Amino acid sequence: MSGTPSDIKLIDENGIRIDGRKVDEMRPLKIEAGVLKRADGSAYLEWGKNKVIAAVYGPRECHPRHMQNPAKAIVQCKYNMMSFSVSDRKRPGPDRRSIEISKIISEALENVVFTENFPRTSIDVYIEVLQANAGTRVAGLTAASVALADAGIPMKDLVPAVAVGKADGQIVLDLNKEEDNYGSADLPIAMIPRTGEVVLMQMDGHMTMEEVDIALGYATKACREIYEVQKDALRRRYAVQAGAVDEDDSSDEEA
Ligand code: ADP
Repeated sequence: MSGTPSDIKLIDENGIRIDGRKVDEMRPLKIEAGVLKRADGSAYLEWGKNKVIAAVYGPRECHPRHMQNPAKAIVQCKYNMMSFSVSDRKRPGPDRRSIEISKIISEALENVVFTENFPRTSIDVYIEVLQANAGTRVAGLTAASVALADAGIPMKDLVPAVAVGKADGQIVLDLNKEEDNYGSADLPIAMIPRTGEVVLMQMDGHMTMEEVDIALGYATKACREIYEVQKDALRRRYAVQAGAVDEDDSSDEEA
């Protein structure tokens, strides 16, 4: 993260950001569950200019076998950014950043899945970023938890996640790419609204304690909104499934 060059103004005199949002406003978020036939569970998410797909397989036999845990399942997440997801072509394959993001998302999800119900197995979560515009780790985690629910994997709850940061000296919710590049702090956070439990929190940059308080307030409110979008995606998914069963039943009757 670099400092703000003097010619780049991220927030105008009316408190409006370069994409027209207020400081505590989130980018538009859409989630669709059950988008892939071959996966046990899946979700597609669009959040501002981010486009992310998550697919879940399992619980299934854990490979490599030496990673099996006789007491519980392990969650293995693979986060990947497509070569065409950013303005310069991204070199394909894992790099330090994607390995780190895969690890923190695996750990966040292990805290909500009832892993002790499935000893020796692995729950594999694939996150593919099709288009990136800052906040892809929180977008990936938000999508992955919907995909896990779509796979019918028992969990404590869904995990909404969002990044809060600092741009032009002000705390802003849900950083876009310019704010991520030229802002002075980035704080991705995932929390379960029902319990207030935090399952992911990272921080890059500098904030005072008062600013952290404001940031956490914004994040808490945003996570409640994201949670509603996640639940709505699952409701629509089950409504479609129920409709499909009815249609199948009627065609059986006619046959
Ligand atoms: P997050 O996507 O969770 O905010 P970062 O803060 O590491 O994670 O990245 C911020 C943004 O920088 C990404 O969303 C993406 O738009 C961009 N970015 C990340 N890695 C690359 C890369 N290798 N090439 C070009 N842009 C990238």
